[in-house]
Amino acid sequence: MPDYTKPLPTPDPVTKPFWDSVKAHALQLQKCANCGRFIFYPRAVCPHCFSRDLNWTRVSGRGKIYGFTISHQKVIAAFANDVPYTIALVELEEGARLLTNIVDVEADPAKIRVGMNVVVQYDDVTEAVTLPKFKPL
Ligand SMILES: [Zn+2]
Repeated sequence: MPDYTKPLPTPDPVTKPFWDSVKAHALQLQKCANCGRFIFYPRAVCPHCFSRDLNWTRVSGRGKIYGFTISHQKVIAAFANDVPYTIALVELEEGARLLTNIVDVEADPAKIRVGMNVVVQYDDVTEAVTLPKFKPL
C-alpha cells in the first residue's frame, strides 16, 4: 500500500462522511429529507429541491452500469500500468449515480454491458483511503 502513486481524494467537511463510510466498507450517500432523493456527489444543498436537510444514509451498494468506457490510452502516467481499465457511471438501486471503475473484469472487459448488475467492492488503496469500485454480480 505505501507505493500507491495514483491521485487520492482530499475530503472536506462536506465529503468526509462519504469517505469515512467507504473506509468503513459501509457505503453511505446523502438523502434529502425534503424530496427523498439520494444525492451524489456530496454537497451542502440538494440539487433537486435546494433543501439543506440532508442525511447520511446507508445504501445497498448494488446497481447497474449506466454507461462506461474502456481506456486503452496511457495518457496519465499513474494509470499506465492499468490499461485497459473501465471507467463507468453506476446507477445505484437508490437512484444516485457514481463515477467509478469496474473491477474483476480486466481479463475480458468486452463482457461489460450497459445495464449489467454490479455491486460495490471496497479497495483499501492506502491505510487512510478506501475507494469504492464495482464488480459484476
Ligand atoms: Zn431534495
